[in-house]
Amino acid sequence: MISNNCLICENECKNYKQWNQHKILICKNCTFSYIHSTKSQVEDVFSPSEKSFIDKSIENDKARSNLFAEKIVKNRIKVYEKILKKKPLNILEVGCGTAVSSYGYLKNNINYTGIELDRNLYNFAMNKSRNVLYGDFLETNFDEKFDIIFASQVVEHIDKPNNFFKKCNEILEKNGILHIDVPNDFSMVSFVRKIFKNKKYYGAIRPPYHMRAYSPKSISKLFSRNHFYNIKVFSKINWDRTFGQLVENVSLQRAVLFRLQQLSGMNSLLIGLAQKK
Ligand SMILES: [Zn+2]
Repeated sequence: MISNNCLICENECKNYKQWNQHKILICKNCTFSYIHSTKSQVEDVFSPSEKSFIDKSIENDKARSNLFAEKIVKNRIKVYEKILKKKPLNILEVGCGTAVSSYGYLKNNINYTGIELDRNLYNFAMNKSRNVLYGDFLETNFDEKFDIIFASQVVEHIDKPNNFFKKCNEILEKNGILHIDVPNDFSMVSFVRKIFKNKKYYGAIRPPYHMRAYSPKSISKLFSRNHFYNIKVFSKINWDRTFGQLVENVSLQRAVLFRLQQLSGMNSLLIGLAQKK
């Protein structure tokens, strides 16, 4: 029998939402919501919007690489240094895609390792001589520990989120930083999607790609349950110059919508940063 205990906090989920053919479990304790799934097929990993994002990333690799090196990576290093109170020596990026940010870290004398499970993205990164491993992060043994682990738009794809956080904790140096971002189930856009029902999305849930939807509270819970401290969880606009993952110009319509959302303080990109105990 399938358990109805929350995948994060183990609280029994007594209420659920029937939506299309899906039963969405909603945890009252940590506000995590999810659909039961056992994902085994890699081809289901990327949603159509993620696929088009990947295609554009490859097309604009050079411009993105420069932008990451000159702006985003620099800003992130400042954030990391402030938290660590020292300069990080290395970073592991889980689900690194084309590893576009690697040059930015190397330029700042920070060793970069990426890991990617999509063969095409891995091949592209290797052709650019970027330091990337091919495979499933959860199944990979690492022979070094890291000052920083970064995973953008990864955790929402993971079946058992505690396993991911536990693994990160194991391979971080003491006080090392785990930095993640996920779609925000508590954004203004997500709330609108829940009220005005549509077939594709229920908040941040997007079957069959995103079967887990995170709130600030559930991300905090994941950190605290897996031995992290100094937990910071906040939301940003997707093209934030420090935490964002989108660097391309977006349509005017989207820009206006997202700026409006920014006023509400409930943005689409949910960010979590914490240190290993
Ligand atoms: Zn829970």
